[in-house]
Amino acid sequence: MTLKPPPLKDDCFALPAGTDWTPVDEALAVLRERLRPVTGVDTVALGDALDRVLARDVKAARSNPPLPNSAVDGYGMRHADVVNGPQTLPLVEGRSAAGQPFEGLLPPGYAVRILTGATLPRDVDTVILQEDVTTDGAEIAFHGPLKHGANTRKAGEDVKAGQVVLPAGRRLTPADLALLAATGVAQVEVREPLRVAVISTGDELAEPGQDARADQIYDANRPMLLGLIKRLGFVPVDMGRAPDNRLELKEFLDAAAERADLILTSGGASAGDEDHMAAILTETGSMTLWRMALKPGRPLALGVWDGTPVFGLPGNPVAAMVCTLIFACPAMGAMAGEGWKEPQALTVPAAFAKSKKPGRREYLRARLRHGKAEVFQSEGSGRISGLSWAEGLVELPDGAMDVTEGTLVTYYPYSAFGL
Ligand code: AMP
Ligand code: MG
Repeated sequence: MTLKPPPLKDDCFALPAGTDWTPVDEALAVLRERLRPVTGVDTVALGDALDRVLARDVKAARSNPPLPNSAVDGYGMRHADVVNGPQTLPLVEGRSAAGQPFEGLLPPGYAVRILTGATLPRDVDTVILQEDVTTDGAEIAFHGPLKHGANTRKAGEDVKAGQVVLPAGRRLTPADLALLAATGVAQVEVREPLRVAVISTGDELAEPGQDARADQIYDANRPMLLGLIKRLGFVPVDMGRAPDNRLELKEFLDAAAERADLILTSGGASAGDEDHMAAILTETGSMTLWRMALKPGRPLALGVWDGTPVFGLPGNPVAAMVCTLIFACPAMGAMAGEGWKEPQALTVPAAFAKSKKPGRREYLRARLRHGKAEVFQSEGSGRISGLSWAEGLVELPDGAMDVTEGTLVTYYPYSAFGL
């Protein structure tokens, strides 16, 4: 059984009236405030939970460890029996091993053989490492003092039963599965994966692998966007290429709205004659042309088609990728139930020089080498080769900035966006 939340409202992308160039942070704040999870909730077993997004906080069903146990192979005893200096203690018959606890009572003044992970026998509160004793099998000799509680783990010292171990919105990692298993959680409520449709638009586009007229270009955005979606843990839905024709484009949007929770289109998002995506989203009354104060990136056309949000990305592949990373990534995360995730940046010295004018935030194709951020030789927005060369983006602030070699700059590895 899955329960799906209501769709987003048609005006969810509206910007305050009179907005001219929208600063990146303002646009992100609007998305952060308006977007919420749109996917249903399902219960899955731990074995199927990797990379799924928790729909609710998860509490530990039991403590870890459930009982006090030994952290080492050695000998357990009462701390009260330990003196300062050399001493011997007789060994009791039997031992405590992991999964095979010592069932008897330890007589006062005795020690007991104990192995790593074994439950501490009653009254045993201190363990000595086997390397620190000599033994003939009947008694052990060692030097006191020992710390009270040495080499033992307390019940619940890692996690206490009832404690929240993982919060709603968490995308489960392999380590998370270990934590859930250890705390007695066998199934979790997770969000259904966000389905994201991708449509390329433009009469100039040809399909890779097919013959292209000399004036055509191959559709580069679709494989890139489908790949990004997959890497981010969402479900890519390939809707193909739409021509620059409003009627046909509407049919593409209809089909995409039926199959996906969010639609990413590329191309036709500005206000030119052939910018049909912007035009038909405007017809629905749900469209806002976000003129972002951002380079590279022309306007983004954001709207809602038949209840399904549409991100109309620029056609230029470099701008499409940057806009996807900066705007669509956190938006998809929010819609998928992950909450709003800020990409974590590194501050690193620049290996380049650049004088940046004020007005627009800039993202440069970059990568780290020898601890410094180097940028692609050309900032030309047509340079798809630079996108592929890069391993992340350097972010230069909205205002002016003079960068010389060694200036500290903000660098986002692609992995910061979840790639
Ligand atoms: P548009 O936003 O439609 O004006 O497109 C801007 C630029 O990006 C134009 O040079 C288009 O040919 C190019 N472009 C649009 N879509 C794609 C695509 N899917 N793959 C590669 N280039 C594209
Ligand atoms: Mg176009």
